[in-house]
Amino acid sequence: MFRKGLALKKEVAGALAADYHSALIDRIKAADYRWHMGRLSVHLAREFGFCYGVDRAVDYAYQTRRRFPKRPIYLTGEIIHNPQVNGRLRAAGIRFLSDPEEDMNRLGPEAVVILPAFGVTIATLTQLQRQGCTIVDTTCGSVLNVWKNVLQYARDGYTAIIHGKLRHEETQATASQVLKYSSGRSLVVLDRAEAGIVCDFIRHGGDEALFSARFAEAMSPGFVPHRDLQRVGLANQTTMLMTESLAIGEMLRQAVVDRYGDTGLDTHYRAFDTICSATQDRQDAIMALLDDPGVDLMLVIGGYNSSNTRNLVRLTSRRVPTFHIADATGLMSSRELRHRPVDVRQPDPGAVVAETRTVDWLPGDRVVTIGLTAGASTPDAIVGQVVERLETFAGETV
Ligand code: SF4
Repeated sequence: MFRKGLALKKEVAGALAADYHSALIDRIKAADYRWHMGRLSVHLAREFGFCYGVDRAVDYAYQTRRRFPKRPIYLTGEIIHNPQVNGRLRAAGIRFLSDPEEDMNRLGPEAVVILPAFGVTIATLTQLQRQGCTIVDTTCGSVLNVWKNVLQYARDGYTAIIHGKLRHEETQATASQVLKYSSGRSLVVLDRAEAGIVCDFIRHGGDEALFSARFAEAMSPGFVPHRDLQRVGLANQTTMLMTESLAIGEMLRQAVVDRYGDTGLDTHYRAFDTICSATQDRQDAIMALLDDPGVDLMLVIGGYNSSNTRNLVRLTSRRVPTFHIADATGLMSSRELRHRPVDVRQPDPGAVVAETRTVDWLPGDRVVTIGLTAGASTPDAIVGQVVERLETFAGETV
């Protein structure tokens, strides 16, 4: 099992820079994150793009390829939610166990398997170890921190209420951690509406069958609502909206106080901050960007199934017109733009998300300031390509 890289960091640095670095983005940063091109100006968020966890995961994947040039290398699924990065790894011969033609059961000791930044479930890890595979673990330290806290909940008899997306790999991996204890329990809530149902049950009890039917897929095995909602602890998928996670934490805390009184709080409720600093920094940076007057619209770049990118979109769309594009090809022309609609939910991370087209996305014959940011799985190279594409519109009148 490799957990700290494969001692080939220097050897792959050139390839990583060639694939993901952008000299243009370096110049924009040096110009105080502002870039002027004809009638267009770009204001770049001060924190955007690859986070430390993604950086490390991609680095380890390149090192793995270099270290084992002849052995079959697999990823359990997407290493991060970015199609270009995954595409490059495929091009390097790395295979994806999430593809229909692959079968994890067939892997043997010759296989090298890379675990993604958001981790895998205990069941998957156990199976890979049992089959003798060489494992390269890129699970991010911030995710491991969540697991540590969730494990403590399970050990101490608290149910982990996980604010996250049920089908997201990270949330599934986090929920599986409690199973290390036979009495460990977890329940995933997506948003305030679902948290509200849980809070009602904490306060007043209710119909267990109805509750169990409502959260059938979100509960860990053996979950008994009356028993397992007496002592709860909050956890998060690391890429959720900080404001929403805090709100859900406060809802749970208040429900516990209503049920058990202030004196019962310590024994019935726990919480800790599990939004990773990279996610938080990116959310803070776009709010600071929009506090600066004059931004006419936002472009948010990232994979359509990237949770942290979606949350950046949700934040900015409350303030200015916002378009979520996967890469520069979304900028079809100065008239037409292809993007993911703001409010459409995705059933699971692997599902294909329908794009839409917006005509007249760029205001006409006047100076326009475009706010620009990118999710944690988007490399600088793609952000640079978007700026280059915008530059081709800068002299046009529409
Ligand atoms: S978003 Fe945060 S938790 Fe996820 S890989 Fe990046 S740094 Fe780690």
